[in-house]
Amino acid sequence: MAKEKSKERLVILGTGHAMTLDCYNTCFILQNNNQDCILVDTGGGIQIIKQLRDSNIDLKKIHHIILSHKHTDHILGMFWIIRTINKYLSNGEYEGKLNVYMHRELESTIRKIIYEVLSTKYTRWIDDKIIFHIVEDKEKRKILNYNVMFLDVRAKKEKQFGFKTILENGKSLVFLGDETFDESLRKEILNSDWLLHEAMCLDTEADIFKPYEKMHSTVKTASQIAQNLKVKNLVIYHSSDNDLINRKQNYIKEAHLYFDGNVFVPDDLDVIEL
Ligand SMILES: [Zn+2]
Repeated sequence: MAKEKSKERLVILGTGHAMTLDCYNTCFILQNNNQDCILVDTGGGIQIIKQLRDSNIDLKKIHHIILSHKHTDHILGMFWIIRTINKYLSNGEYEGKLNVYMHRELESTIRKIIYEVLSTKYTRWIDDKIIFHIVEDKEKRKILNYNVMFLDVRAKKEKQFGFKTILENGKSLVFLGDETFDESLRKEILNSDWLLHEAMCLDTEADIFKPYEKMHSTVKTASQIAQNLKVKNLVIYHSSDNDLINRKQNYIKEAHLYFDGNVFVPDDLDVIEL
C-alpha cells in the first residue's frame, strides 16, 4: 500500500509557561511534507526526550534546532538533547549533523554551560557534528526547504529571537517567542497566515497571574494583536496549567470575542495541520 503523504504541520511538544508543572514548557516541531523536522526551543529539562518519544518523533531524525532565548524553560532541554545525540554519534547511530541556530549571546551562554555540566564524552561531537550557528536579526537561513528569517522580537527581559518563514504550502508563519508582540515588528507580521503568540492566562485571570508584569499577554491581548495585524490563524501557547481540562475551550471562547480568524489553543502533544 502506498504510504499516505504526510502533511506539513506543527507538533506541539509543550504548551506551558516557565513554572508550569502539569504541562511541559512551550516548544514545538515544524514538520514539512517530507516529515523532516525543525525543533523550536526545548523546554526546561529531560522531559523533552519524553515529549519527542510520546509524539513518535525520533530524535535521530532531528537535524535542526532553533533556540529563542536563554531562559531555563527554553534551553535546559537542549543539554539533554546534546547529551543524547553525542551518545548516538559515538555509537554510529546518528547520521549527518545537528545544526543549532541562535543569537550570539545565547550561543555564548549555551557553550559555557555545556562544558560545565556535561562530561567530555557528551561534548565530544560539538563543533564537529553538532554545529552552533550564530544568527543575526533579519538574517535569512535556508533550513530544510524553508527560508527562515530570524527576528529580534525586541523582548524587554532578555534578548530573544523569533522567526518568520514561508511554508511549503505557500502560507506565512511567524513565531514570536514568549513575550507580547512589539509594534516595531508590525511590517513583518501584518497579514500573516499563522501567528504563534504567547498568552499566559484569560483576561479574567489577569489579577491572579499578573502577565503584564512579566511582559506576557492575556488571551484577550494576544487576540487583539492578531486581529489588528490581520492574521488568519492564531496559535496560543506559553500558558498557565491551572485549568488544563478547560483551558482550550475557555481560551478559544475568549479569543473569539476579539479575533475573527481561526484560533488554536493546543494541549501538549497536539498536532496542528498547517
Ligand atoms: Zn518562557
